[in-house]
Amino acid sequence: MDAFSPSIPAANEKFFWETIYMAEKEIFIEGEDFPAQSFDEEEFFYCDEATLAAQKSFGIKFLFPWQRLVIANILDSSGAENKDFEIDGQINENDGVCRGKQIVLLPTGAGKSLCFLTPALLLDGPTLVMYPLLALMADQQRRMQEGSLSCVVFKGGQTQEEREENFRKIECGQARVILANPEVLQNEKIICRLKKCGIAHIAIDEAHCVSEWGDSFRPAYLTLGKIIKELEVKTVTAFTATASPPVLARVNEVLFDGNAHLVQSSADRANIHYEVRYAYAKKKAVLKACIELKKPMIVFCSSRRKTEDTARLLTAYFGSEKAKFYHAGMTKEEKLAVEKWFFDSEDGILAATCAYGMGMDKGNIYTVVHLDAPEHIENFIQEAGRAGRKGDDVNSVLIWSHKDQAKWRQAQKNSREKVMGDFANSRICRREFMMNYLTGEQVICSGCDICDAQKSGKKIDYRADDAEFAFKFIKRNRRLFTKDETVNILTQKFNLRDRDFFKENVWEARDMQEILTQLFDSKKIKKLGGFWENHLDIKAEKPRFLFRRFLTAKSIHRLYFLRRNFRHFQKKLEELRQLLS
Ligand SMILES: [Zn+2]
Repeated sequence: MDAFSPSIPAANEKFFWETIYMAEKEIFIEGEDFPAQSFDEEEFFYCDEATLAAQKSFGIKFLFPWQRLVIANILDSSGAENKDFEIDGQINENDGVCRGKQIVLLPTGAGKSLCFLTPALLLDGPTLVMYPLLALMADQQRRMQEGSLSCVVFKGGQTQEEREENFRKIECGQARVILANPEVLQNEKIICRLKKCGIAHIAIDEAHCVSEWGDSFRPAYLTLGKIIKELEVKTVTAFTATASPPVLARVNEVLFDGNAHLVQSSADRANIHYEVRYAYAKKKAVLKACIELKKPMIVFCSSRRKTEDTARLLTAYFGSEKAKFYHAGMTKEEKLAVEKWFFDSEDGILAATCAYGMGMDKGNIYTVVHLDAPEHIENFIQEAGRAGRKGDDVNSVLIWSHKDQAKWRQAQKNSREKVMGDFANSRICRREFMMNYLTGEQVICSGCDICDAQKSGKKIDYRADDAEFAFKFIKRNRRLFTKDETVNILTQKFNLRDRDFFKENVWEARDMQEILTQLFDSKKIKKLGGFWENHLDIKAEKPRFLFRRFLTAKSIHRLYFLRRNFRHFQKKLEELRQLLS
């Protein structure tokens, strides 16, 4: 199987190809780009702006996950601000990969028209769609005229009047879609007029033509990158069904200067085992996963600095040839060197931002760890899908901390951010949760931590075990130790506990401080004042007996101490009395 071709789980295959077959026959009626699938509308909880618009205008019932991801990226990036900048060394999540610049890998007929026609309904400016062949353009024009979208066509051999009429329609907002081929856009006058129209989005169909034809008989394709820049359009989507890495790399280079984001149509990949690990000390959890799970692996981090920190931690354990980092802030040579190292590596670990991926076709990645959850579950699935391209059984591990949990609690109900937390806190099968959210399809789970636990009759512990260990220690020793003492003792205890696993002392005082801080934040423990200055105690619901407040281990120590002193004092007094008498 071609490593880049979308993998469709066997159970959904019939359904999938039926969809495609239907999509190729007609368009814009239920069951064209979309399967006529029955579902309970109340059960189907996710309905965003894009889905609603597509439902209303095209009569479809739902959008596929990759369609939603592509549409969300288009709508997000054409929103006013470009989020691609750096604050205090913290690079934003996109890490130079502009999500508005996408290469979308879809099999022909999988419903790509909806990916640019749905945003066309919602964007402020018109959408420019480029086709390589006049026949395709004419076909699209006919379909759109049958639907509710009005479009104009620019092609060779048009009269001045025809073009003026086109511009009139665009300027008055009557035409939301402009169809053109690259050749007609070589005309400076047209480009100049189009620029004034404020184009919001450019979609390039059959983008592999850039690579296949641009270098030979259609040089106009090679100027598309320049045209995009001249039109000053931030949001560009290139669609292709050809998946070979050199073609993708060439398309990325010509159209996007190498900064595009790749979206593939793989929703459920049956060979991925999903797992969520609850950990307060994330770095230790990553190290543990890196030791346990099969390599080569990628650790996805949310910022450039975190990739470097993680790589440092891993090199300290595995050696410098086994772990490296990758992000968009590196020079081209550095990136190439790391890409090559990882591509050839049999047991390497790469700590990367989402900048890693384009054009890389490493088939033997066995594990994808997410140190930080991506903003959206669609991105999570795309990134987890970097593993197991050859169909081997692979693992996807999401590390989830109290901080993530707090962020999730604050996220708005039904927002895309909320879903990632719902996934992490899911009490039902991870895969079932994902598919429910994405398509409402029924899948048979091929492996996740929750299903494993159900099979083995164990219970999933949703609490982070490090935090639980620390919390129990404080609970056993209420008011006995100050914060600093607790940090020291716990560091030793954790190292003792984990020495068998890590073979060395990996816990440091600052890890423990981090855990305690999170325990404070989650209001599980508290620092006392007054007589118990700086001593730690758990935040109990209510003390069961009044004397429990005073009778802690330390107060008993103090009582012993007082009694001993008292006896000592009595003895001295006795001696004194004898002396006097
Ligand atoms: Zn499952």
